[in-house]
Order: sequence, then structure tokens, then C-alpha cells
Amino acid sequence: MALIVQKYGGTSVGSVERIFNVARRVAGCARSGNAVAVVVSAMGDTTDDLLALARSVSEKPPERETAMLLTTGEQVSAALLAMALDKLGCPACSFTGPQAGILTDGVPLDARIRAFNPVKVRQALEEGKVAVVAGFQGADPDGLLNTLGRGGSDTTAVALAAALGADLCEIYTDVDGVYTVDPRLVPAAGKMDFISYDEMLEMASLGAKVLHPRAVDCGRAHGVVIHVRSSFNEETGTLVKEDTALETGTVVRGIACDTDQAKIAIIGVPDRPGIAARIFSAIGQRGINVDLIVQSIRRNGENDILFTVRADDVDKTLAVVKPVADEVGARDVCVHRGVAKVSVIGAGMMHHSGVAASMFEALASEGINIEIISTSEIRISCLIDETRVQDAARAIHRKFGLGNDRQ
Ligand code: ASP
Ligand code: MG
Repeated sequence: MALIVQKYGGTSVGSVERIFNVARRVAGCARSGNAVAVVVSAMGDTTDDLLALARSVSEKPPERETAMLLTTGEQVSAALLAMALDKLGCPACSFTGPQAGILTDGVPLDARIRAFNPVKVRQALEEGKVAVVAGFQGADPDGLLNTLGRGGSDTTAVALAAALGADLCEIYTDVDGVYTVDPRLVPAAGKMDFISYDEMLEMASLGAKVLHPRAVDCGRAHGVVIHVRSSFNEETGTLVKEDTALETGTVVRGIACDTDQAKIAIIGVPDRPGIAARIFSAIGQRGINVDLIVQSIRRNGENDILFTVRADDVDKTLAVVKPVADEVGARDVCVHRGVAKVSVIGAGMMHHSGVAASMFEALASEGINIEIISTSEIRISCLIDETRVQDAARAIHRKFGLGNDRQ
């Protein structure tokens, strides 16, 4: 008997019919003798619809109340799935995040899990029931409801698998697994059988939407093997786990594209020690993530500093950057939203030279200009014009012979 955690995304539970489809799968897994705990997302676009509803009441709804509202979405699907299982003769009971034992840190809409003690879930499993847990939520020490940030049900599932010491965590979604690149951009994209935690974390953080980065991080920290697969067929998906091969032959494993980026340029910054620290600590204090950063070569005692943030964070960023830029005597602050970040990822890159050159050659062959470059041990990212993203992804995919571009 195995202990399995399964998570079903919004599309997989998007209608009553689909909830029954999920219930049949869950019941089948339980009837083969496994203990099954299930985590569900809200049905279809429920979270977006609830956010729109909140905004129709107030342009700036209080975060506490927004969390209260959003957590209902996952409760609906958890309760309906438990009912469907019951209808199929498979005993089940549903739990909210707090009932399942998730204690969060009090940040209303982007909370972290502080502790997870799944007493009631364990009890239900021991009684031979399927435990259905509402994803994406927890309660802080005062009992206030928090959400785990968009896409956070994945994190609930992996954290539950870690807390229960489950044998496997299956993430059921509407695609067949993790692809070498977004198949909507590059038809030659291929499904990967396996990807390491480090590589998946880069892919997820750099724009591959299939898994929430925090879920990958949690899986890596607790050694939870994650199987990303489709809820619409029986195919094996992609395993996310520790890289156990002594030497991997793969240099580049995948490509991630992120069009949700904006570039901010601070022009004419006096070239003195401490200025970059002032600017970026102000940004950091607001919890804004900065990614690519470049500083131009000094001329006339001045630099330009360019960096990227998520397009959603532009207003927040400008609100902190403008006053600091004025204070230090910078000449101007400009924003450019039409940019995208294309990245190649692969743990094998660490021991191979020439990967950057191949990527730049692929971009050059398409006449694509690179605005900013950044690298880590296992990835190379280039900021390019947003309208060229598809050309870039195709050319790079071909250059590295990934997926069905393999020769
Ligand atoms: N329903 C939430 C969202 O749409 C959480 C999730 O699905 O993972 O972001
Ligand atoms: Mg998701």
C-alpha cells in the first residue's frame, strides 16, 4: 500500500462532469489499495472571477477580505469532490486548509506555510477515507485566513506530501507534463521524462507555468518526488526529483519564456559607491523581485542602471524608485514594457563551455537583438523584444536539438 497525494488543477475540476472524472480516478487509486489525499484548486476561472467581483465592489479591496473571499473557491471544489466520491461509494471527507493543519505566516495574499500538522487528514486516511483538502490556503496563529499566492495549490500538495511522508505527489493538470519549451510557442516541443529540482525551479521561476516555484522548492527541501501529469489521459508525465545520474549527457534541458516582464531604466545616476545599494534596498523592502540588472559603463561620472521586474510590479517599483532617483540626482526614470525574457536551463551547463555562444548565435541568426544578459550556473537569460519571443524560442530549440528537434 502506498500513500499518495494527488493535486488537481482548476481545469481538471472545471465542471461537475470533470469533478466526476477526477472522482473516478481518485476512487480507482484508493480501490487499488492506496491511501489517497487529494488537494484541489478552485473550479476553472473561479479565482479570477472572485477577484473581479472584489474589484467591482472596491478598487482597492482590503487584503484580509480578499483572502476571505478567495479561499471559498477551493472550498467549493473540495466539498463537491468529496460529495462525488461519496456518490461513487468511496468514503471521503473534505477539509479547509486550516482544518487540514496548515499554519501560515499572516501575509494575507502571499503567505508562507510555517507549520503543517495534518492530524485530521491522517485520521481520515486511517479510517480508510479519502481526504480532500482545499488548496491555496491556511490560517495564521490568530486564525485569520491567508492564501498562498496565485498557483499556490501546488505548494499545498507538495507540503502535504512532505508532512504525511507520502510516497509520491502527483500534480494533475491539463498538459501531459513538463515540456522542453511551451508547445504553444514551439510545436517541436517534447515532453521530458525527468527533470531535476534545480532545473525545474529555474524553469518555473523563469516563466514555465506548469508548477509553482515554491512547490518545487518545498519538494527539493523534503525530497518529495513530484509527478506532473495530465488528468485527461493515463500517460506517464514528467518526474521532478533529485538528479541521481553521475554524469548527465544533457547540457540544455529546456527553454523558458516570460513575456510578463518590464524593463526600468534609471538614466544618469551619479557614479558613487552606495547608490545601487540605496535603490535596490528600497525596492527589496517593498517585496519586489528584481531579476536582470545591468549598469552601463561610466561616462562623465554617470551610469545608467537597467533592471527588470514583473509587469504587474511596475507601478509599485516606480513609486519607490522615483523618489530615490530624485534624491541621488539621477536624470530620468523610464519604463519599457514590450520586453520578454528567454532562458535556457540545464544542470549540465555547469561543466560545458560554449552554451552561451550557441544561444547568442541562435538569436543572431534570427536578427534578434539582446538587451540584457544574465547567467547562473545552470541558466542563461536574455532580454529581447517581446514580439520576437516565438522566433527566439524556435531558433534556440533547434540550435540545441531539444524535444522533436533532436537529430
Ligand atoms: N486557485 C488559485 C489560483 O488560481 C490557486 C491554484 O489554483 O493553485 O491561483
Ligand atoms: Mg497551477
